[in-house]
Amino acid sequence: MTNFDSKDTAAFKGVWVFCEQREGQVMSISYQLLSEGRKLANDLGVELCGVLLGSNMDADAVKTLGGYGADKVYYCNHELLKDYTTDGYTKVICDLVEDKKPEILLIGATNIGRDLGPRCAARLHTGLTADCTHLDVDVSKYKEFLKTTSTIDVDKTPFEENTNLKMTRPAFGGHLMATIICPRFRPQMSTVRPGVMQTQPYDVAGAANVVVENISVELSKDDIHVEILEIKKAAKQLVDLIGADVVVSVGRGISKDPEKGIAIAQELADALGGVVGASRACVDAGWITADHQVGQTGKTVHPRIYVALGISGAIQHKAGMQDSACIIAVNKNADAPIFECASYGIVGDLFKVAPMLTEAIKALKASK
Ligand SMILES: Cc1cc2nc3c(=O)[nH]c(=O)nc-3n(C[C@H](O)[C@H](O)[C@H](O)COP(=O)(O)OP(=O)(O)OC[C@H]3O[C@@H](n4cnc5c(N)ncnc54)[C@H](O)[C@@H]3O)c2cc1C
Repeated sequence: MTNFDSKDTAAFKGVWVFCEQREGQVMSISYQLLSEGRKLANDLGVELCGVLLGSNMDADAVKTLGGYGADKVYYCNHELLKDYTTDGYTKVICDLVEDKKPEILLIGATNIGRDLGPRCAARLHTGLTADCTHLDVDVSKYKEFLKTTSTIDVDKTPFEENTNLKMTRPAFGGHLMATIICPRFRPQMSTVRPGVMQTQPYDVAGAANVVVENISVELSKDDIHVEILEIKKAAKQLVDLIGADVVVSVGRGISKDPEKGIAIAQELADALGGVVGASRACVDAGWITADHQVGQTGKTVHPRIYVALGISGAIQHKAGMQDSACIIAVNKNADAPIFECASYGIVGDLFKVAPMLTEAIKALKASK
């Protein structure tokens, strides 16, 4: 498109969220990003648009995006968009961006988003910050965020007053948080991992009032270099850590008998109606599969109760669980860093303490 120039920053307006769907179901990451995008759009005083690519999607599913904050949905309906392909989705999104010029484009850091985001950024000649954990456009809100999360003396530090997207993410193995801006190009693109942003409550009026604009899609088989013949799902049911209300995680503290350690964590999780998570040490040791991993390179969880059994509390683990409502840590070492973020700490052997907790919970339930 000839009139598209990613350096002409003044020509770009609006916040967009790429809304991922699989088999016609909108993925929860889309709702999380719309909820976050809503705040950014409010701060900028612009529209929030969901971008949905699919084929003959259910009209109610399209409107749901309004229930989580979208003012408008650009619905790209085409039979070749039923399932994700890098070529097809990249072309349609880039065509739309070149036409409508949003200033911000958020994408979930899912397998699809991690493939799609960089491809679009390169084609649009703009920047992308991957795996963001915090986003701001408003400088005063950004300063408030820094006051609570950093050692910077915010009142003595000069800040430029502008509405560039301030994209914060862990850097150097999680030892530093870096805020990255993309001041010279648009759209400002960011990927965010599932579970990092909180979903706002569903707004029935928002869903009823959302404007759905059907986009006429120019796409042919020649644009797509792969053909999806069949989708085979892993037979195994993966653990739903992100949606869980209670997570009982195990760490290297189970090393003397990993099988027993996981079994007692599962019993405690069952008693509390939760699921089992793990530190990376357990995943790397092959004791438990990667879908259980909590942390910077695993999943980010916000359960009501997070139980850490034999986990030291490395910064990369905390990055995935420290926002849990209640954290209960069990560790043999009274100086373990996990106790710094714990609501309740128990110094003791997890092989003894966890079964005692399970029994106590069962007894309490029975008494009711
Ligand atoms: C780039 C990068 C990304 C990473 N991403 C992640 C991530 O996503 N998630 C993650 O978890 N880690 C991640 N890590 C690894 C992280 O730095 C730690 O190495 C890891 O979290 C340690 O796991 P742990 O706490 O289970 O093991 P350890 O640090 O070895 O701690 C084991 C703890 O168990 C206690 N213990 C031992 N026996 C018992 C017992 N019988 N009862 C009670 N307590 C006991 C010990 O006192 C100790 O505190 C990452 C590292 C890097 C560099």
